Amino acid sequence: MKLRIGHLYPREMSLYGDTGNVLAVRRRLEWRGHSAEVVAIEVGDQFDFSTVDILIGGGGPDSGQRHMAADLVERGEEVKAALETGVPLLAVCGMFQLLGRSFTTNEGEVLPGIGVFDAVTVATRRRIVGDVVLSTRFGRLVGFENHSGLTRLGPTQEPFGQVLSGRRRSLRHRDDGAVVGAAIGTYLHGPILPRNPVLADFLIDRALGRRGEGSASSLPPSSTPTRQEAPSPPGSPAPVSGPA
Ligand code: GLN
Repeated sequence: MKLRIGHLYPREMSLYGDTGNVLAVRRRLEWRGHSAEVVAIEVGDQFDFSTVDILIGGGGPDSGQRHMAADLVERGEEVKAALETGVPLLAVCGMFQLLGRSFTTNEGEVLPGIGVFDAVTVATRRRIVGDVVLSTRFGRLVGFENHSGLTRLGPTQEPFGQVLSGRRRSLRHRDDGAVVGAAIGTYLHGPILPRNPVLADFLIDRALGRRGEGSASSLPPSSTPTRQEAPSPPGSPAPVSGPA
């Protein structure tokens, strides 16, 4: 089967090797005997979101986000309609911020997001840079972060994971990213999918299942503590099982 991968704004949003996420999905599809057409969706491009099987977007500098944010807002309803049909999505860092409600830059400019995630991000004066280990439904995931924005989730928004190790622990920002259905937002570059193939396979299984190929895998049960619970100390065990 041929799947259509929509790559959101690669010109502006491809920091720290994030294009590797698209390459990982394509290659892993090929290894399973499928193929992929990768379509770059740039500012002003015509794109019919009802034809897409997987959406992937990477991180970008504030200037890149400033350039594409309004275009994304124009397409917001179409993106959300695709997600409602079960299209899996991965959004990293800057793209995650703009799939939330807003990102306020260091200059105080508010870039509106499209509200897939109930998340609000505000830039800080410091940059948060370094390696990260997360505890997630998919087990422990590793990656790299480099951003100034810090994100607060709404009270009922499920985070993607908990920061077990990394700079954000000392800032008391222990939630990473957000999950709604098969849409996943995270701060992890790396790129995350080549470094954590279990997550690539989840997106692939979801996309294939949606097209009637195999069964659509469900998210594995949450291993992340609820946001009211005390975060687990670094080194505490996390489940290693992947999605069913
Ligand atoms: N410009 C955003 C920030 O600094 C996102 C950076 C990124 O995508 N790595 O917070």
